[in-house]
Amino acid sequence: MLKRLRSSLALKLLLASAIPSAVVLLVGLAVLIAHTQALAQTDPALAFTQLRRGALLGTLLSLTFAGIVTVIAARLFLIKPIQALWKVMGRAELGEFLVRAKVSSEDELGQLARSFNTMLARVTDMAVEHIETRQSIEQMEHEIRMQDELKSLNRQLEAHIGEMELLLEVAKALSGSLDLPEQLETLGRQICARMATDDFSVLLVDEGTHQLVVEAVAGKAPAGARGMRFHLGEGITGEVAAQGKTIYVPDVEQDARFLHYKSARRQAGSFLAVPLRAKGRMLGVMNLSRVRVDAFTPQEIRLTEALAAQAALSIANARLYTQTLELSYTDALTGVANRRQLFLRLEQELSRSLRFGDELSILMIDLDLFKTINDRHGHTAGDGVLRGVALLLKRNVRKVDLVARYGGEEFCLVLPRIARAEAAEVAEKLRRAVATSPVAATPTGEPLSCTISIGIATYGTDATDLGGLIEKADAALYEAKKAGRDRVMLATPLTRAAS
Ligand code: GH3
Ligand code: MG
Ligand code: MG
Repeated sequence: MLKRLRSSLALKLLLASAIPSAVVLLVGLAVLIAHTQALAQTDPALAFTQLRRGALLGTLLSLTFAGIVTVIAARLFLIKPIQALWKVMGRAELGEFLVRAKVSSEDELGQLARSFNTMLARVTDMAVEHIETRQSIEQMEHEIRMQDELKSLNRQLEAHIGEMELLLEVAKALSGSLDLPEQLETLGRQICARMATDDFSVLLVDEGTHQLVVEAVAGKAPAGARGMRFHLGEGITGEVAAQGKTIYVPDVEQDARFLHYKSARRQAGSFLAVPLRAKGRMLGVMNLSRVRVDAFTPQEIRLTEALAAQAALSIANARLYTQTLELSYTDALTGVANRRQLFLRLEQELSRSLRFGDELSILMIDLDLFKTINDRHGHTAGDGVLRGVALLLKRNVRKVDLVARYGGEEFCLVLPRIARAEAAEVAEKLRRAVATSPVAATPTGEPLSCTISIGIATYGTDATDLGGLIEKADAALYEAKKAGRDRVMLATPLTRAAS
């Protein structure tokens, strides 16, 4: 019974209002009965009237009391808990999911509060789940972003590795040879293959003319362009050499400066020209082109500049090597070949003569009374005469002939494929050239002339080995001196010498 009372709101209200009302009614009735009983002994009619009135009044009073008690009970058991619950619901409605309703009874309202609390607990769980889900979504999004960044970094890294590989390959190829044209052609082939370049060329500055000369071409560049010359400032390449700055033309058809190998070839696309500079000197220009318009990215332009720096260094080194090589085979005073080069060449020519039966003659030349020139005008003027004679000799022979300084004021000329009679003609021409024109000047500026004596020896006819050939030419020279200088003498042929 007590359990039912605790769990039923209606029962509670009923009991709360009915018990006090019944008590009051019973007490009132008892008082009324006692009062009317006492009165009935003296005045039964009045007692009856008062009983009737008392019963009516008592009933009214009891009903009023019951009403008041009911209101109090309703306020205590119903309104207050409902208000408390309603307040909590309002806070929950505003998002405060951690509030809880007070469960102060076991009745329907208590159960409602409990259910509400359970529902709030579920909502809280769901909110936590929602927060966790959102957090994991954010985490996933962050991871995806990181992955994307990683992918792009990887791509950049791959590109860098590719660039480094190309730089290394080029460095290896360039250091593999000291032959400049070969180096440049290799560079061109590698750049065309690795950088998807359609057309490649290298132009180097000719120190003598200060012009740009096409030294190497690769890809679709016309082979006939080799040797083509451009002035500094002419076309895009000329401008790059003059200013020392890279020029990139995204669309050659929009740039009037583009010369298309001086119209040897018309081609649309993009063109990149980078300067070749090393050790503070402008050596030339490297050109790359693609048939596509705007085909070079800023990264590729930077890579090409790095390749150009590498190539320029190799070009400078190759030139230094060639110069050193030239110096080691050249006479410092006169600029003609030295003895080392003379003997190397003589050995080559002798073996060629032996193999192919080619003629070969040499001229041994000595300046006449040179000591007198030194004595009269000084050693410096004497040096000038030596230089002048060397120059004259070089100018009066063919490209294949070799002019070498043999000793102090002696020269030796190697004339491949020249027989005895023809050698005599050459010698005579040389003698006359020296004798008839001043070769230098005195310190006071007066022209200085001299004469030369020449001894001729021909391989096969006069000697059968190198030593013999020189000896024979020397002997003929001695004869020329003996005969009065300023003349040409032929060596005694082997056949005559034997007889
Ligand atoms: P010859 O006609 O008999 O050849 O008479 P020569 O005076 O030319 O011959 P000689 O051998 O007496 O003198 C050669 C001179 O050449 C002696 C030497 O001082 C000079 N000479 C050798 N090398 C050089 C050089 O590099 N510069 C100068 N200025 N003189 C040199
Ligand atoms: Mg002499
Ligand atoms: Mg001499």
